[in-house]
Amino acid sequence: MEDYIISGMAAENQIRFFAATTRQMTETARERHNLSPIASAALGRLMTAGAMMGAMCKNDDDVITLQIQGDGPMKGITVTANSNADVKGYVEVPDVMLPPNSIGKLDVGGAVGNGFLRVIKDIGLKEPYVGQTELVSGEIAEDLTYYFASSEQIPTSVALGVLMNKENTVRQAGGFIVQLMPFAEEKTIAALEEKLSAFASITSYLDQGKSPEDIIAELFDDYEITAKVPTKFHCGCSKEYVAKALISVGKVELEKMIADGEAIEVNCHFCNSHYKYDIDDLKKLLNEAK
Ligand SMILES: [Zn+2]
Repeated sequence: MEDYIISGMAAENQIRFFAATTRQMTETARERHNLSPIASAALGRLMTAGAMMGAMCKNDDDVITLQIQGDGPMKGITVTANSNADVKGYVEVPDVMLPPNSIGKLDVGGAVGNGFLRVIKDIGLKEPYVGQTELVSGEIAEDLTYYFASSEQIPTSVALGVLMNKENTVRQAGGFIVQLMPFAEEKTIAALEEKLSAFASITSYLDQGKSPEDIIAELFDDYEITAKVPTKFHCGCSKEYVAKALISVGKVELEKMIADGEAIEVNCHFCNSHYKYDIDDLKKLLNEAK
């Protein structure tokens, strides 16, 4: 099944929802970055959220970046998504390993530790919008729930999940974001809370062969799906684009590299592509540097 996101409204427009299946995106990230199971789960969860938050954007050029920085052994996670729901991301320590947590699950919260979540929305304004909240658990879904409540003042329920196979490939990944509109009535909220508390886990549903549509049907009696869009891991970097990082080191450093006479390799953080710049390339970049 290809990855996709559905979105729509429920309970007479009192609730909006997004639901996604993101196994391939997460598996691509795992392969590209050679991620450990915990790192796969952490990045997969944040990319799934990023994909849905990208799909929330209104303009074609909007870009959203989610950054988690923590004092745990994984240190940090960065995800960027656009309104096309193209998503890319990386973790600081891709081979992080920890014993299972107290409920026998991958210890994402332990790998992240204490720290903060930052949401940067580049939506065509002069300055990007930046919202930052402290991490609640480091398990990511709860941290985003808290972010939406405190930074955007939108009561939100976020569920994110990644299930790994025994051989450490990605078995299932997905999530949902459900948000209450300001005029949501008490009885709508109570009914939703009841459904959410009865909801097992996103990956257990997906693993039973259920789709995002099935999950939404599980949560609401009265709803309308208004959009279904594909989502994928996509970086879009190129040798020319990555060269900007080399140009930014400045003329003096570039001259040193040229004098050393050796080709330079630069990796794209987001997709781990390697780009090689030989002496002729470096001389061209020198002309563009300050
Ligand atoms: Zn890249």
